[in-house]
Amino acid sequence: MRLTPDEMRMRFRERGLKMTPQRAAIYQALAGTVSHPTAEDLHRHVRRQHPMISPNTVYYTLGVLREAGLVHEVNYWHDRSRFDANITPHHHLVCLGCRSIQDLTDEALDRLSVSGRLKGGFEVTGHRVEFHGYCSTCCRAGRHLSRPDHRRHR
Ligand SMILES: [Zn+2]
Ligand SMILES: [Zn+2]
Repeated sequence: MRLTPDEMRMRFRERGLKMTPQRAAIYQALAGTVSHPTAEDLHRHVRRQHPMISPNTVYYTLGVLREAGLVHEVNYWHDRSRFDANITPHHHLVCLGCRSIQDLTDEALDRLSVSGRLKGGFEVTGHRVEFHGYCSTCCRAGRHLSRPDHRRHR
């Protein structure tokens, strides 16, 4: 979803973050996709309009945006972080075949909780459910039948 300059300014202001052209470009690129891109993906995208922007700036800026609570970072494979501008509570469908990540909104999952006895004094502030499996494209390609990643990523 493409944000207007006013919407952008408001979101940055809400989080007490100064909006610079680079931050705005990176955040806009992330808000415009549901694919949960890596920093490298975002750099490739943002570079088209901001040729001077370096990969390091993108990494650093994503860290700033994450600290401000404007983006989420997920890493299901312990290699490359994936970023998400959707900060409303949601869950993920994670494909083991092509590593796609799809958002999943489900109120029943939002209501999950841990019983007091099991928490052992742990103070829960939130949760996110991830379902592992194979996306429709991978299923059509038959990738779910060989399941090469099944054990490793369980
Ligand atoms: Zn897939
Ligand atoms: Zn997401």
